[in-house]
Amino acid sequence: MKKIAFFCIPAHGHTNPMLPVAAELVKRGNTVRFYSFDAYKDKIINTGAEFISCDAYLPELTKQEETGIQNVSSTEMTIQDIRITLRIDSFLDEEFRTFHPDVVYTDSVCFWGKLNAWKHHVPMVVSTSTFAFNQLSSQYMKNTLKETADLVLGLPRVSKELKKLESYGYHVKNVFSLISNDNKTDTVVYTSRQFQPYAESFSDHYAFVGPSVFSNTVPDKTKERPLVYISMGTVINDRPDFYTKCIEALRDQNIDVIISCGNATDRSSLGTLPENIQVYPYVDQLDILSRADAFITHCGMNSVSESLYMETPMVLYPQTGEQKAVARRVTEIGAGKTLTDDSVNGIRMTVQEILDDPSYREAAKACSQDFRSCPGPAGAADFIENAPHISNGIDVISELNRETGRFQFLYWVFVIVCINLIGRLISWKYVWIIGLGAAILSGPIGRRIQKQKYASILQKYR
Ligand code: UDP
Repeated sequence: MKKIAFFCIPAHGHTNPMLPVAAELVKRGNTVRFYSFDAYKDKIINTGAEFISCDAYLPELTKQEETGIQNVSSTEMTIQDIRITLRIDSFLDEEFRTFHPDVVYTDSVCFWGKLNAWKHHVPMVVSTSTFAFNQLSSQYMKNTLKETADLVLGLPRVSKELKKLESYGYHVKNVFSLISNDNKTDTVVYTSRQFQPYAESFSDHYAFVGPSVFSNTVPDKTKERPLVYISMGTVINDRPDFYTKCIEALRDQNIDVIISCGNATDRSSLGTLPENIQVYPYVDQLDILSRADAFITHCGMNSVSESLYMETPMVLYPQTGEQKAVARRVTEIGAGKTLTDDSVNGIRMTVQEILDDPSYREAAKACSQDFRSCPGPAGAADFIENAPHISNGIDVISELNRETGRFQFLYWVFVIVCINLIGRLISWKYVWIIGLGAAILSGPIGRRIQKQKYASILQKYR
């Protein structure tokens, strides 16, 4: 039996999939100590794990910082992550000394979990509540302009905070080395190999265990009229404008509608509800999805996984780059349609299409069967109990980097030779045009070559 320390940031979407894993490990007789926050205390205690409150280490936030966190600003969240790591440092030093965990199971963006596993030389397994993102799968993620500006403008502030970690004994190259999924770290991902984009590019340090849910409920869609469920998740869900449009679009239709609007939205601001629509601050989402015929979702990874698990096709309304990546994958498998027109009429038409066209339902059902054939929380528990894992040495990404690096080198040597020849033989006046053209073309040509090399590397290992 092992002593396992769980670490997670204060977020439902990151905490939820870790809970069934904790319950499974406890059931097997392991000691699980879960370092989390008071808002998640009840859920954690229900798993049988020991709950350790970290609320005392949350920094005081200015109004501006609070708004940044609410808007899921990567810069703000990274800075707060570092601040918590510094504040909790001596407490965790003492905990690691007295509890002495055999394994650390930490959320992928929980810096204090990861950094303390490294500092105290304890085997670590990372819990990834989104897709695993490397340089290939992250091509699915199209950041909004606001997100890109936040990342670029925030870099100096983040670097300044990162430097503070050094004096506490945490050695960090840069922020990307803390958050990216590399091929050397034991990692659990709560999706199937089939649903994960570019799954073959991840090494055998990855366990794609499928959705981690508590429910054994079998979907049952038999009822008098269709049920549509609407949720924007638990983070950016104060969207009365959108809920009002959904209510307008679906009122007086021959369907039932349930909206989970979160605690921030004042339900009275949504007006008088028609008889077919109910609004709650929080619901048992899995239970509703097991009965629902369509789900209007913000495309959080957990919500989408739960929807597919329960065979519910989706109207996709992603708000962030990460959610867009999830939405794109759902459309690729045919289990949902993106809401391109979020007007009252656009919502009504898209919902109707999802309800009327059986192909969406069938695609969701096929994915559900794939998910249900995955090992789930038991597979994650096996992986954690047996950590650290030894690799078979195959690292597709490193090989790909070597191959594309060689191509880039030859490409630029060729461009420089061309520039020189043209400059000497014809004129130096216009060689900048060639340089500019080569720089512009290097992107699409590079991506094409990367795809070809990737295919040939995979072929080699088949
Ligand atoms: N959830 C729930 N009831 C609600 C709304 C959300 O149980 O009324 C759960 C949902 O089942 C999922 C999580 O909250 O497990 C939301 O995570 P997701 O990754 O979808 O989105 P986030 O909230 O992180 O944006």
